[in-house]
Parts: sequence; C-alpha cells; structure tokens
Amino acid sequence: MDLMEYQAKELFAKHGVPVTLGKTVETAAEARAAAEEIGRAVVVKAQVKAGGRGKAGGVKLAKTPEEAEEHASTILGMEIKGLTVNRVLVVPAESIEDEYYFSFLLDRSNRSYLCIASVEGGVEIEEVAKTNPDAVKKIAINALTGVDEAKAIAIVDEAEFPAELRDQAISLVQQLWKVFVEEDATLVEVNPLARLAGDKLEALDGKVSLDENAEFRHPDHAVFEDKDAADPLEAKAKAKGLNYVKLDGSVGIIGNGAGLVMSTLDVVAYAGEKHGGQKPANFLDIGGGASAEVMANGLDVILNDDQVRSVFVNVFGGITSCDAVANGIVGALKIVGDEATKPLVVRLDGNNVEEGRRILDEANHPLVTLVDTMDGAADKAAELAAASNKGA
Ligand code: GDP
Ligand code: MN
Repeated sequence: MDLMEYQAKELFAKHGVPVTLGKTVETAAEARAAAEEIGRAVVVKAQVKAGGRGKAGGVKLAKTPEEAEEHASTILGMEIKGLTVNRVLVVPAESIEDEYYFSFLLDRSNRSYLCIASVEGGVEIEEVAKTNPDAVKKIAINALTGVDEAKAIAIVDEAEFPAELRDQAISLVQQLWKVFVEEDATLVEVNPLARLAGDKLEALDGKVSLDENAEFRHPDHAVFEDKDAADPLEAKAKAKGLNYVKLDGSVGIIGNGAGLVMSTLDVVAYAGEKHGGQKPANFLDIGGGASAEVMANGLDVILNDDQVRSVFVNVFGGITSCDAVANGIVGALKIVGDEATKPLVVRLDGNNVEEGRRILDEANHPLVTLVDTMDGAADKAAELAAASNKGA
C-alpha cells in the first residue's frame, strides 16, 4: 500500500524524523483557514499517490491566505497522472538552501535492502542517475544487522553529506530506518531532504510503501487506506478476509491455492475465446480450508459482481478433502439462498473425489453442473456466461 505525502510524514514524525506536518484539507476555504493559522507563507501541495506533483502544477507557494485559497481551488479536482486530487496539504513555506535525495528500499534482485542517497538534489533523481551516476550512491544493507549508528555513519560519509550536517544526517538516517523496519515498509523515500536556513535538515516530501503482508501487525495503518480508490467488492472481500482481486470479465472464479487459481484464469480466458471472448471476472483463492462459511463468503462476493454471468468453482482436494469441499458448496448455496441465481460449474479433484461428487449429485442443486476436467469445466462456464449474455 502506497501512502500519500501527509501520511508518510505522520509516520516520519512518529519515529522522530524532522518534518512539519501542516494541515491536510479538502476545500479551498479550509486551505485559507489553515494558512491563516500558520500565519506566514505556505506551500499548498496536492495529495495524490504520484510523484512529480511539482512539475504538474500540484505544488504552489502562497504568500497570503487568499493566495492559499486560490491555489487550493486550482489544485483540488486537478488530475495528476490520472489521479484526481481530493486533498491538499498546507505547510509553512521553508526557504530551501539545498535539496538531497534519500531512500531505503527492498532490493529484490539482491534479496536484501538498499539505501540510495544523493547530495546532488534539486533535479529529479532519475535525471541525476543518468547524467551524473557517480553522484547517486547505492549502499547495500545487511538485512540481519540493519542500520545501527556505525552503519548510519558509513552511509552519511559515503553519500558525502556536508560536514556541518553530518550529525543531523546520522540521526535522520537511523530514524528513517526505524520507519522502514518498525512500520514494515518496502520503500521509504525523502525527496527532497532539504537543508533549510540555519543548516537544518528536514524531510520536505515523503513517500512510503507499506508491505501489505505485514498488515496484521499494524492495526493503526488501517487509517491510511484510500477509501476513494477501493473497489467496493474488493473492500467487501477484504473485510471477510478473502484473497480477491476484481477483474474485467464474466466468469466468476473460486479456487483453492494461488497457483491453481492463476492457471484457472488462463484456462478460462483461453476457453472463453470460443464463446465470444468471455473472460475471468476475478481472482479468488479461498485457501486450504474450504469450509462452507468461506465458500459462502466467496460466492457472496462473486454473485454480487454485476458483470458475473457464471461461476467456475475449481477445487483440488488436498488438506481439505473433496467431500468437505462438496459439503462446503452445498452449505454455501443454502447460506447464500435466493441470491444464488447464476449457474455454477464445479470441478473437483484430489482426495476423496468420488465422495465429493456423490454429495453434489445427491444435492442435485439446479444451478450446479459438475464437470470432471478443468478444461471441460472452463469451457462449460464460458459457454454458460455467453448464453446468459445473449439472454440478458
Ligand atoms: P513532488 O514534485 O511530487 O516530488 O513534490 P515535492 O513535495 O517534492 O515538491 C516539489 C518541489 O516543491 C520540491 O522539490 C521543492 O523544491 C518545492 N517545495 C516543496 N515544499 C516546499 C517548501 O516548503 N518551500 C519551498 N520553497 N519549496 C518547496
Ligand atoms: Mn518530491
């Protein structure tokens, strides 16, 4: 999950990184009030999850509250890289003497962490990397030992921070590392890290990406969720603890195991070509324990997708055997009740498959079709989706 600047700065402040929080507002009038409260020149900054806001006209200096209001009304509603600006941050304008770049990130290719630092700021870091690559220092970080004071000193010296900022930089590097580790981030970036009047270092911008796999350790991160952007079905699935991604197609998919679900998407897309281009409507992995409740939750999400015309349940009985899955499907159809109006194609294989099929046969639910093979089931599901599209 990527954070907006003001959210990143809140995490910075929590770990002692020098920042000015300012005020985040949603209307021009509130921007004016915020500027009045600050009582001097301010910068009005678009809050969207995109870089290059400055260049796009989303960061503007305002000398008076009136100007802050004007800028806010221009910036609010503006589109930056396809994202609509719904909020602006109003912060005291600082006089910048120099701009630096600093980041910690996950270095997947080296299976470790990496620090990137440059004292050649002022322009885009990508530009510096091209024109003056030696000025962009890349420092590997041992994931086990991390960044202690000695490592922070090594980083600051390698990056060649000016001597008069050295001590501040050493503390700041350690504080940013705390943000990175303690918040479970995959990226912490400060650009610009600014040298303000009086040789004061401050993070004037912040970008943080949080590792969603570590979400369970951070209930306090829930406030960062972008409610405007969330797909309502994805939000519902998330609330039920399901691993669901909405796609643009007509065949709803439920499977167990990420690998099986991925290949189910491929098989359905392939089979769908023969049926007028039917495509999978979602990714949904219900995991190992396919209880009736989990199956019902999955069906509930998928059946509420207006684009869905048929559902393909593709389960391989492993840890949970096929009879338990079949009982799960039968139970789920009872739980979902009248809301189940779309045809279900079920393919079961694996442990206890015979008993699983028997249970489904016996239940003889009018919406359920059992197909033995994955290809056959994908074809049937695509065919049913196409037929229902014609009917509709
Ligand atoms: P980005 O363009 O999305 O990376 O947004 P930034 O927050 O980095 O802002 C872009 C540029 O605006 C910075 O590089 C600064 O030069 C300038 N800027 C941002 N905040 C201030 C400030 O408080 N005072 C001044 N004078 N300039 C600022
Ligand atoms: Mn920036």
